[in-house]
Amino acid sequence: MKKIGIFGATGSVGVQTVHIAEKNPDKLRVTVLTCGRNTELFRTQLRKLKPALAVVSAEQAGESTIQALAKEFPRTEFLAGSDGLAQAAEKGDYDVMLNAISGIAGLVPTWRAICGGKDIALANKETIVTGGEFVMAESRKRGLSIIPVDSEHSAIFQCLQSGPATAVARILLCGSGGPFRGYTEERLNGVTVRQALTHPNWKMGRKITVDSATMMNKGLELIETGRLFGIAEDRIEIVIQPQSIIHSMVEYADGAVIAQLGSPDMKGPISYALSFPERWPADVAPLDFRKLSGLDFEPPDEKTFSCLRLAREAMRAGGSSPIALNAANEILVQLFLEGKIRFLDIQKHLERTMDLHVQTAAPDVGSILRIDAEVRARVMERVHRACSA
Ligand code: NDP
Repeated sequence: MKKIGIFGATGSVGVQTVHIAEKNPDKLRVTVLTCGRNTELFRTQLRKLKPALAVVSAEQAGESTIQALAKEFPRTEFLAGSDGLAQAAEKGDYDVMLNAISGIAGLVPTWRAICGGKDIALANKETIVTGGEFVMAESRKRGLSIIPVDSEHSAIFQCLQSGPATAVARILLCGSGGPFRGYTEERLNGVTVRQALTHPNWKMGRKITVDSATMMNKGLELIETGRLFGIAEDRIEIVIQPQSIIHSMVEYADGAVIAQLGSPDMKGPISYALSFPERWPADVAPLDFRKLSGLDFEPPDEKTFSCLRLAREAMRAGGSSPIALNAANEILVQLFLEGKIRFLDIQKHLERTMDLHVQTAAPDVGSILRIDAEVRARVMERVHRACSA
């Protein structure tokens, strides 16, 4: 029986993790549960799972919300805010953190969980994009495991089980190409928030869905791949596989390519991260090869979708560049979702941010959060100036 802490339980990955926990009561016990603002859904989850510790991390939730929850669930201890989240991550009574928080808000919980000696099942890619170098080094030093939940990285992790790391020739990082695959820049000009939120294959949270539309998601995943598996950028090739059936592949020195296939359903990779090295039934529709119309492959269009090129450049530059890239992207996606900028403004402002970024070292969580805040402020100022010009 593993004790798990589901951080970001009310989001897309979080809800699917709760589902897996409910299906495996003999294998998983949820002892820690956290949400951001969605206390309504959180209440339902608390009622079902009865964790020992729960956190409402949105600062605006207020003392009265926490008091009401504590009254309704007297056997659960409640903490609040980002301090409560960090405390739960480090001191909570659980074995494995499933980090399904979106954005850089997931970095501190991952870090504090490592400080508390916990293993991590990691969906929050921003942890690795911004702090991957020291997060990976510290977890290795402490003998803790970080198992990826992102479907592509779960696939790579699975493919890597079939040969020694020294024999890996290339990683083939797959992606669907998003809802605007094949679009010209002219056509992208007029796309709406609603169109950007309609992914052809995956049902995900809003931020990652927009990232898939701009191809920034693949850019973040490129950096994530390099840092999780210790592979240089020039040995990672991005392959567009529009059906999202092949989740990624690893090519070995002898020319063999090992691929991981499956229905595009996050319950697969979440279940694998929690069951590894075992495999449990995961409630995922099996692939029906008789009905599969075909598997297509194409290269990504880095010219039209410049976010991908910018991510590649940030990965090469290292240091604070991936942090700046991530910070600018988070704020620009938020502005797009709020209807304050257009779709193509995301990559336009991102390009400008990266052009002006002055490289610094970012050796710890404190410096990452400082760089993140500085870049966000600068981007906001630039967008504001552009809008009022
Ligand atoms: P969602 O937006 O659906 O959910 C995010 C979760 O994090 C919610 O529980 C939300 O709380 C919580 N949250 C948001 N902001 C904060 C904050 N500042 N502090 C603490 N908690 C917060 O995201 P997804 O589930 O789509 O994605 C989660 C992570 O997993 C991302 O890093 C994403 O890139 C990655 N991922 C997601 C995939 C997917 O299929 N969705 C696939 C692969 C990777 P609340 O809703 O209560 O406000």
